[in-house]
Order: sequence, then structure tokens, then C-alpha cells
Amino acid sequence: MSTRELRLILLGPPGVGKGTQGRKLAQTFAIPEIATGDIFRNAMKARTPMGLAAKSYVDSGNLVPDDVTIGLVEERLAGSDAQRGFILDGFPRTAAQATALDALMHKSSQRLDAVIEINVQSPEVVRRLTGRRLCAICQTPYHNDSAPPAVPDVCDRCGGVLVVRSDDDEATVLTRLAEYERKTSPLISYYRAAGLLKVVDGNGDVEAVFRRILSAIQSPVSPVA
Ligand code: AMP
Repeated sequence: MSTRELRLILLGPPGVGKGTQGRKLAQTFAIPEIATGDIFRNAMKARTPMGLAAKSYVDSGNLVPDDVTIGLVEERLAGSDAQRGFILDGFPRTAAQATALDALMHKSSQRLDAVIEINVQSPEVVRRLTGRRLCAICQTPYHNDSAPPAVPDVCDRCGGVLVVRSDDDEATVLTRLAEYERKTSPLISYYRAAGLLKVVDGNGDVEAVFRRILSAIQSPVSPVA
């Protein structure tokens, strides 16, 4: 475990492994992983006003409006556990969210350390998402073909039941990828211009990708092209 302060964004379309890598990074650096998708899903399950407001967007694969999303991240980043750093998974996803995050960092005299873009080609992303199963309790991901559990439909780690995420059907996956291309991918050049972008190959096993991310965090930012 490291005691270093670290403020990191994980960028990339759904299915590239941001959640898996985010959880490992959070454990290694003892800072929270803040995944806006998880926050929305939990709010939907608990039927809070925010969950009810987000539901139709999440279920259809569209982005939740910026004001709702920015408000929730602002509140989460003010938490005492996020003062030494955080891993943002799934935020920002629009130019307005990126600008709001910059303002928030400025206001709290904090600085982002890096934005890691995890790169995986689209056909592989679709394959990963449409075969994905998650433990309903601990959220450990599995895959029907490439990472099945030892006992069908049961989590190896905690014995929980494996479920399919409601937005992992093929049609919704395609909408989510289109939303990424249109609204989120412009952030790649935004963060490159800010001198924060580091691109990591997301193919291969979880440990290999994790090692690439750790070395990207430690290496100086590549010169702005
Ligand atoms: P994820 O778990 O990151 O794939 O997110 C699941 C869904 O939550 C997305 O398809 C959106 O509907 C919603 N969502 C998550 N993060 C954001 C965000 N930063 N802005 C808007 N919508 C989001």
C-alpha cells in the first residue's frame, strides 16, 4: 500500500476495465474509487430521488444530465476519505463535467495528477460487455467465456449470485458506445492539451494492464503532440 496522494481519472469507453483497474488502484493507494455508474445504480436500487431521476437514462444507455452528475461528484469529493486523493471511474464524461471538475480542483487547491486513457478496440469491448456477469453482492466481474466462475452463476469470492447488468444487452451497449464517441471522446484531446493524458493498452490480463497503469502513473507525461 502506498501513502502517496493521487488524483486520477480513468477514461475510456464502457468495457475497457476501468472498474476493475480502479478498484485495484484504490486498494494500492488507499484512496476511494469513485464510480458514478455505481453511485447511480445504488441510488436506483434504493429508489432515492436521484436514483429515480437517473433511471431512464441509465437503462437506455444515455448519459444522465450534467447538473445531476456534477452535483453528486461535488458532494462525494468533499468527503473526508477523498482528501488524500481519488480514482474517478466514469467521470467526467462531457466537456461540461470536465470544466466543473477543473473548477472544483481549483477551489480546493488540489491538482489532478493524470488522466489514464485505457484503450481497447470496439469489437472486443462489445464482446466483454455482452458476456459480462457481476456478483450482485461484491460486484466482482466475470465473463461467460473468458472468465467464468468455478460454479455456474455463483461468485467465487463471496458466494453471491451473478447477475447481468440491465444495460449490458447488445442494443444498449451500442448506445453507450455511441454516447462515449460523441460526448466523452473529445475529452482525450482536452486532457492531452492540459498535459495530463497517458494512454495505456487495455488488452491482455488484468495484472498486465495494472502494471502498465502503474508505470504510466510513475512516468513523466508524454510531450503534447
Ligand atoms: P458505467 O457504470 O460507468 O458504465 O455507467 C452506467 C451509466 O450510468 C451510464 O450509461 C450513464 O447512464 C450513467 N453515468 C455514469 N457516469 C456518468 C456521467 N459521468 N455522466 C452521465 N451519466 C453517467
